Formats: sequence, structure tokens, C-alpha cells
Amino acid sequence: MTTRYLIRFDDVVPTMAWSRFRVFDEIADELSLPYLIGVVPECRDPKLMVESARSDFWAWARARRKAGWTIAQHGYQHLYETEGRGLLGIGRKSEFAGLPYEVQFEKLSRGKVILQNEDVWEDVFMAPSHSFDAETLRALRDLNFTAITDGFGFYPYELCGLIAVPQLVARPLGFGIGVETICLHVNTMSDDAIKRIIDFIRTHHKQIISFREAKEVIPAFPPIPSLLRSATSTALRLRRAVRG
Ligand SMILES: [Zn+2]
Repeated sequence: MTTRYLIRFDDVVPTMAWSRFRVFDEIADELSLPYLIGVVPECRDPKLMVESARSDFWAWARARRKAGWTIAQHGYQHLYETEGRGLLGIGRKSEFAGLPYEVQFEKLSRGKVILQNEDVWEDVFMAPSHSFDAETLRALRDLNFTAITDGFGFYPYELCGLIAVPQLVARPLGFGIGVETICLHVNTMSDDAIKRIIDFIRTHHKQIISFREAKEVIPAFPPIPSLLRSATSTALRLRRAVRG
């Protein structure tokens, strides 16, 4: 059995660090890799304004989508309003968790309209800081989202009517089973980290799958996923608690 990998980039906005992303874009072209990218519909977060804005951003996103990438709606403005840890209990700040349903629905809906107008909306959600609650999921369902890129374990599972494709790590673990989502933030990646991931992509590219494929990964032994979910959720919470 082999691990399948899903390569996910957070915080994809016109003002991201394109100079650092370029190598990932190039190797995706070369090896036909289907990344998952989290696009912020209307970025207002100064932390994500790193380089001068790319004027052809939406055309670029449309082209990548045509090439098989998946575009996830990464919040709305990427502004944190609450300290809600949300359902997963791993973030410390949130654009959504803890807010009333109507407020969350409004934000998600505005974001969706922006992406639809740019012809890049898909039914996938990526929560800023991994933080969302049951009301977020209800609003997502009401807006016809079907999947999120977050959760514990190594297999997709159902969470309040949506499909959760687990996301645990920034580095490949290579457990030999299921699917691992490798979560990358190019703005803050060191040259070394970029080189390591590029080397990894080159040697493992046959194991890299799209988000759509990741949603379909099923276990050979059905009882395993729930055990792995509880084990990884405990481990992650512990690690984040220790880190403070
Ligand atoms: Zn983010």
C-alpha cells in the first residue's frame, strides 16, 4: 500500500509571494500536478500582502483550474474576528467560528459570489486557521458546498453533511496508507523548506492526486479510519497545546 499525497497551498491571493511560488507553478506544469489552492475572495489581511499584486491573478487562477487544479474558497476576507477554536479545536483565531449563522452565511455568500463572478468557484471550502464550527458547516451546506479540506485521520469522512478530506501536516509523513494533505504557506517558507518539498514532489509525483481523487480514497479495512481519526486528533491537540 502506498500513501497518496494532496498538495495544498493556503493564502493564494494577488499579493502573495509569487517569487517563492514560481518553482511550484513550474513543476506543476512540467509534471501535470493537480494542486489544491485556497483562494481568498477579497483579501484584506495585511499579512498576506507580501509582494506587488499580480494583475492577471484571476486569469491565472482560471487557467490553473482548467489544468485540473482545485480551487477552494479560503474564507472571505481572511480577517480574524473571534478566538473561536471551532470544531477541530486546533486554531486560536477565526473568521467564522463563534459568529451567528446569519453573519457566517453572509460572509461565505459574498465570497462565493466574488469567485463565481471570476468563474473560479468550486464547492470546496478551506477555513482560515482551520477554524469553523457547526454553523459554518450549516451555512456551507446551504450555499451548496460539498467538501472541506480539514479534518483528522488519513481517509475522507462525512462531517455534518460535508465530506472532510483530512489535513494534518506541513510535511509528508509517509504512513503508507490513505491520503496525506501537505499544507504549504509559501509566504513564510524558507529556501530550504521549498527545496525539500520540490525534491519530494519530484520523487513522489506519481503518488500526487487531485482533491477530487482524494475525496474518493477509501480504506482497505473499514474500521481503521475512525481509529486513526481519534488517534491523530488527540496527537494534534496535544502537540498544539504543548507548543502553546
Ligand atoms: Zn490562510
